[in-house]
Amino acid sequence: MTNEDTSLFSLLSSLDGFDPEALSVDQAREAVVSLVAPVPGHERVFVRHALGRVLAEDVISPIDVPGHDNSAMDGWAVRHADLAADGETRLLIAGTAFAGRAFGAPVPPGGAVRIMTGAVLPEDADCIVVQEVSRQEGERVVVPAGQKLHQNLRRRGEDLAVGKAALAAGTLMRPAEVGLAASLGIAEVSVRRRPRVAVFSTGDELCSIGGQPAEGQIYDSNRYTLGGMLERLGCEVLDMGVVRDDPDLLEASFREAARQADAVITSGGVSVGEADFVKAMMARLGEVAFWKIAMKPGRPMAFGRIADGDRQAWLFGLPGNPVAVMVTFYQFVRPALLAMAGARPRDLPSFQVACTEALKKGRGRTEFQRGVLFAEGGQWKVRPTGAQGSGILRSMADANCFIVLEAERGNIAPGDVVTVQPMDGLA
Ligand code: AMP
Ligand code: MG
Repeated sequence: MTNEDTSLFSLLSSLDGFDPEALSVDQAREAVVSLVAPVPGHERVFVRHALGRVLAEDVISPIDVPGHDNSAMDGWAVRHADLAADGETRLLIAGTAFAGRAFGAPVPPGGAVRIMTGAVLPEDADCIVVQEVSRQEGERVVVPAGQKLHQNLRRRGEDLAVGKAALAAGTLMRPAEVGLAASLGIAEVSVRRRPRVAVFSTGDELCSIGGQPAEGQIYDSNRYTLGGMLERLGCEVLDMGVVRDDPDLLEASFREAARQADAVITSGGVSVGEADFVKAMMARLGEVAFWKIAMKPGRPMAFGRIADGDRQAWLFGLPGNPVAVMVTFYQFVRPALLAMAGARPRDLPSFQVACTEALKKGRGRTEFQRGVLFAEGGQWKVRPTGAQGSGILRSMADANCFIVLEAERGNIAPGDVVTVQPMDGLA
């Protein structure tokens, strides 16, 4: 945790133009990310188990890569000084260097060694003549003019020198990074502890799956989408179930979550005019601000920290609507948890494509509509996924991207260019 002794919100309110009643999406994201800090603790894991983890330290290369001077091409290893400046040169073939089996002797004066890609460069060779430009005549190879000193050579340590950082602390280990560590012969890496995140849903109307919903009750889906998003982000998830809108139960759950977790995510109970238990309990157990963010869906959101004794956790009180939960998670919680995981920031990629249908859009807030990116005639385009109500989870399930309509934009006509954020790879 940062800023232990300073009021969180006095820090934020000193920022220019920070109004919790009307925050832009960018302001809210920056505020959240600026307050959290990486969780303490790291462990050593086998490189095979490092996938999805964040490096706690630089990975230093114990070797030069490549480990020896070698050929970048199939061809002939020669001594450049032997070659005629103009006209062909005939060189006596001295032998062959294979990848993994060296020629083992210097190139003799006036000679050439046949060499394969990746094979160790024989001593005294300083030029590789590619196979395609040469021709063989019996025991000799004929090399045309115009070969350059040091051409087609890869030098020892050229990609990575021994003692240099191959991977920096804060790197998320993807398959490429796992392979890179393995290519250096590294068996174990030091990774940060995964943030531990407690999740619970609030609301008297919620029924857990397996239960029989009474009239007016609905199944709790938010814990499942949240659990999935958290797992893909590499967090450790503590599922705390459904908590009724009851002050005692809420207090017990919040205290338990503050003791166990680095961050707590709740859904429901933060909207205006709501039975106020959840908001009141958040405020009582810590320092929590209720933000009205100029976005749709996801306008009301609570952010702050709660404590039980000397243990505290960041709190994200997300709205109850299932789509709002996912949108606010991706826009605010994801960057915060990446920062808590110690990972370097990774913005969600976004780009511009034409939208094939008209979209209704009010000015003054950023809208995250759900869309389908598709290719047509060699061009990527986007269309919305039907009804866009913030309770309609199907609009997310059918989508492969968000259509991000910036605050200042009005209605979209067919063919207008819009910003999209692909959902694949959001983990
Ligand atoms: P709230 O923010 O608590 O007023 O909830 C807004 C809407 O989201 C209501 O229609 C709730 O029934 C619905 N909702 C709240 N929590 C969940 C949940 N865990 N799963 C599915 N829907 C929910
Ligand atoms: Mg509720």
